[in-house]
Amino acid sequence: MVVGRPFLTVEQIQRKVKELADVISNDYEGKDLLAVGILKGAFVFFSDLVRMIRTPLMVDFLIASSYLRGDSTGDVKLHYDIRQEIADKDILLVEDIVDTGITLNCIRERVLMKGPRSLRICTFLDKTERREVQVPLDYIGFSIPNEFVVGYGLDYDNKFRNLPYISVFKKTT
Ligand code: 5GP
Repeated sequence: MVVGRPFLTVEQIQRKVKELADVISNDYEGKDLLAVGILKGAFVFFSDLVRMIRTPLMVDFLIASSYLRGDSTGDVKLHYDIRQEIADKDILLVEDIVDTGITLNCIRERVLMKGPRSLRICTFLDKTERREVQVPLDYIGFSIPNEFVVGYGLDYDNKFRNLPYISVFKKTT
């Protein structure tokens, strides 16, 4: 297995997170923002993003999984759900990457069933080519080609999440 040179550098990532945070700060002025990080992959992006948002907010998390060793199973499991009452909240779901859209679509439908005041989605990466289910994305960091990427929270077999940049991952065997 090989992790190559940065595909997105630390500087590019930081600039983009700031841009997204600025737009989100303006859009959520005066609202009751509950930012929900989708774990595990979004943990790095989420913590960078919320620290740059200037409007008051609360945080919560969801743990969902649909991937096994880099291959999509299409089988979405929710291991941990939002704990707070969300009827009076403006929810922002924060995801690392949207690929087929299956995971996020399933999460979105479950959250909508609880009747939040509003629901928007922010994803750091978007692999549009691979989309199978259309999910409305309100804030997108980078649209990327159909490559398997690791780093900045994203893993292969639970490794490489701690890389500070994003790299394309290749299997050599
Ligand atoms: P989807 O349901 O949209 O096909 O898959 C979304 C999930 O698959 C993401 O939250 C992420 O965990 C995983 N995933 C999709 N593409 C990649 C990728 O290029 N790299 C990594 N590390 N995970 C990915």
